[in-house]
Amino acid sequence: MKDLIAALPPGRVIVDPDVVGTYTRDRTYLQPGQAVGAVLAESREDVVTTLRWATEHRVPVVPRGAGTGLAGAATATDGCLVLALHRMTAITELSPDDEIAVVQPGVITADLDRAARVHGLMYAPDPSSYEISTIGGNLATNAGGLRCVKYGVTRDSTLGLEVVLADGRVLNTGRRTMKGVTGYDLTSLFVGSEGTLGVITEATVRLRRAPAEPPATVAAEFGSLRDAAAAVAAIIAAGCQPAMLELIDRNTLQAIDDWKHIGLEPGTRAMLIAQSDAADSATATARMAKLCDENGASFTAVSSTPQESAELVGIRRLAYDAKERLGACLVEDVCVPRSALPDMISAVEAAGDRHGVLICTVAHAGDGNVHPVFIFEHGLAEPPEHVWAAADEVFRAALALGGTLTGEHGVGMLKRRWLALEAGPVVADLHQGIKAVFDPLNILNPGKAI
Ligand SMILES: Cc1cc2nc3c(=O)[nH]c(=O)nc-3n(C[C@H](O)[C@H](O)[C@H](O)COP(=O)(O)OP(=O)(O)OC[C@H]3O[C@@H](n4cnc5c(N)ncnc54)[C@H](O)[C@@H]3O)c2cc1C
Repeated sequence: MKDLIAALPPGRVIVDPDVVGTYTRDRTYLQPGQAVGAVLAESREDVVTTLRWATEHRVPVVPRGAGTGLAGAATATDGCLVLALHRMTAITELSPDDEIAVVQPGVITADLDRAARVHGLMYAPDPSSYEISTIGGNLATNAGGLRCVKYGVTRDSTLGLEVVLADGRVLNTGRRTMKGVTGYDLTSLFVGSEGTLGVITEATVRLRRAPAEPPATVAAEFGSLRDAAAAVAAIIAAGCQPAMLELIDRNTLQAIDDWKHIGLEPGTRAMLIAQSDAADSATATARMAKLCDENGASFTAVSSTPQESAELVGIRRLAYDAKERLGACLVEDVCVPRSALPDMISAVEAAGDRHGVLICTVAHAGDGNVHPVFIFEHGLAEPPEHVWAAADEVFRAALALGGTLTGEHGVGMLKRRWLALEAGPVVADLHQGIKAVFDPLNILNPGKAI
């Protein structure tokens, strides 16, 4: 550690265990291991120096953005060095002509969006955590979000990366053009690699024209989750092209109501929030409201002002914090083909009933991405067996429906034991081979993702 402290500018390395401890958790229940220290990087050079040192001394490195991850991918392990990127917050370039931005990894997601809006543009990927997560973390997890149903996930907005490899070499991938097929697509390989292949120190991202008019929003209440899921399928099939299509179940609504008193009706079992940012958003929202009515909605409201629209979406953004008030949370992230959403929702409800587990579910329904959150007692080191049994059932149901274990949060530490069910031995071999090419000493976030 003395060598590292000497090699970096003053103030970059922390060794006080109490302070280091504040950089070792993400938002899962997982107890972190004991890190030897943390580097608070401020430049690419800091990252290069740190990784050269880690290679020389064979020290595992856990890259970290804001620590809002929900899979344990940024959780420190015993003997690791945490490499925190949250101080690298420069938006180096924002080009309205090319509709791109070049950013450092510590930029907060919503800050980039706000900077783009000044020029009539937007940065589309908007995880619910967009006010607290970093672009680097979003890239490393291929984050999704509410607007992804229309604009795609983080990978769809990523054009190029600067990455520091485990041995300190600097790699530039991709381009700043809208198209390009030179060589293998290393940019896409790094997006979603959960800090296991290299540390992202800069990204060139795509911006899009911001809608000219503020979006309009529909909120519809249903007496059953399955009806709400059927309305989702109808909205997609009718070609309404929502910019957001979110589903919230009764347990989640109850948690939000207990906290914020939103006036939840006793018979409401689910709420659908659908938004259109199209030029004719009034027509699109009226159509979506009608489809909700036709699929059994007990109450439907369309926003009449931008403020009302923001308030309706605000209910959805409260969901995770409301659930954390109920107990410790095991957050899952299965994703199924959109037509299978009603069956997936039924499988989640059945798993909760069978194993006696309180499950609060929200879904980026337009993407078929379901987040069942399994609530258990605070203070336990691990979820109890019956919670894992329910989660296991949900994973297996998702795979049986043609889905995947994780739509946007990543594998981290939490989903590794189910990986083989989805990926199989050939994929596992190739993953190990790719890892060995980029990180032959296995020092980058070992024990995560693959
Ligand atoms: C309330 C709440 C709502 C959420 N909503 C969503 C949502 O809608 N959609 C969604 O996708 N996620 C969501 N998340 C999960 C989380 O916010 C995302 O996974 C986010 O992308 C993590 O960003 P971060 O900066 O916190 O990364 P961290 O949690 O710090 O790290 C996540 C992973 O990225 C790696 N990493 C971080 N920075 C770098 C870098 N520069 N180079 C290489 N690897 C790096 C870490 O090693 C780790 O593997 C939510 C979380 C919360 C708490």
